[in-house]
Amino acid sequence: MFTSRQLLEKLVAFDTTSRESNLALIDFVWRYLNDLGVSGELIHNAERSKANLYARLGPAGDGGVMLSGHSDVVPVEGQNWSVPPFVLTERDGKLYGRGTADMKGYIACMLAAVPHFLAQPLKQPLHLAISYDEEVGCLGVRTLLEALSQRPEKPSICLIGEPTELQPVLGHKGKLGVRCEVKGAACHSAYSPQGVNAIEYAAQLVHQLTAIGERLAQTEQHDTRFDPPFTTVQTGIIRGGTVLNIVPAECVFDFEVRTLPQHDAQAVAAEIDTFAQSELVPRMQAVAVDSAIRFYPISGYPGLLTDAQSDAARLIAYLTQSSDFSTVAFGTEGGLFHQAGIPSVICGPGSMAQGHKPDEFISIAQLDACDAMMQRLAAWMRQ
Ligand SMILES: [Zn+2]
Repeated sequence: MFTSRQLLEKLVAFDTTSRESNLALIDFVWRYLNDLGVSGELIHNAERSKANLYARLGPAGDGGVMLSGHSDVVPVEGQNWSVPPFVLTERDGKLYGRGTADMKGYIACMLAAVPHFLAQPLKQPLHLAISYDEEVGCLGVRTLLEALSQRPEKPSICLIGEPTELQPVLGHKGKLGVRCEVKGAACHSAYSPQGVNAIEYAAQLVHQLTAIGERLAQTEQHDTRFDPPFTTVQTGIIRGGTVLNIVPAECVFDFEVRTLPQHDAQAVAAEIDTFAQSELVPRMQAVAVDSAIRFYPISGYPGLLTDAQSDAARLIAYLTQSSDFSTVAFGTEGGLFHQAGIPSVICGPGSMAQGHKPDEFISIAQLDACDAMMQRLAAWMRQ
């Protein structure tokens, strides 16, 4: 039997930065579960360099609860750590190490509770899911959900253990990242009207995106459960041009839309595309026929907003002894679980105030409280 702290020490020691393989960690968890008599299933990526792990405890059949966490962590390069990031280090009641808060602490508690879940007659299935590549766009969980969708049985609640300091969280915004490529026509800048200036057309698109964002920020669109309480539109990267005396033929920029769960990011993408094709491209092509503006999705995940009256919300209220539901600003795999028909809520130990930062930590008190939450879940599943 391992305690959650011992397991956290093991998990932190695997460098599962998203660019690396997570197979050593998955193999460790696989053996741990096997030693307890639990057989899991691995769902690999196409290159077989990474895997999701899925396992079920208790009876087969529909329903039950899924505990879900991601195994990957964000890089430590360029961060000033005062402790070795892949060695669990205790200091002043806190356990330091990359991933302690986001979110190996939760995975450690979930694994430490397995013998306890096994020791009692579960009336419904308990599903465990550990994914890869969450930090780079919730990629791994998509193959996991695809595999799960082939099964007849479906969990009825998913508990995503992202760090919320064990507060019950019902939602977050969705995100869509889009790349725009503007293709104009080059010429000597002394004759600029004979060219199609890709930077200037890109600037018009960026300006239009700002206008769309301002419209979406109007008060009648607000949902005060979120911060900021409206859908935001933001351009983050722009590249174009070579030297000042050439009219630039290429400009590429990336923008993102962070939507309230009830809004559709695709609607914003469609609106800017319509503006581009109807207002700008005809003017560009009047000068150079092969001018074009193209948009490509580059990243994204759906938003999440679980009903406060749902069974999932009731369970998380019971587990946390609080119905003070809130939302978080960061994204999770919950939106994808929800989209796959598994109502999801977010609750995990530690705080995202420490996530992704140097000297990331989880307090021992939070780890203990998460162990206690697992005990309450076990009691609930006996019913
Ligand atoms: Zn996370």
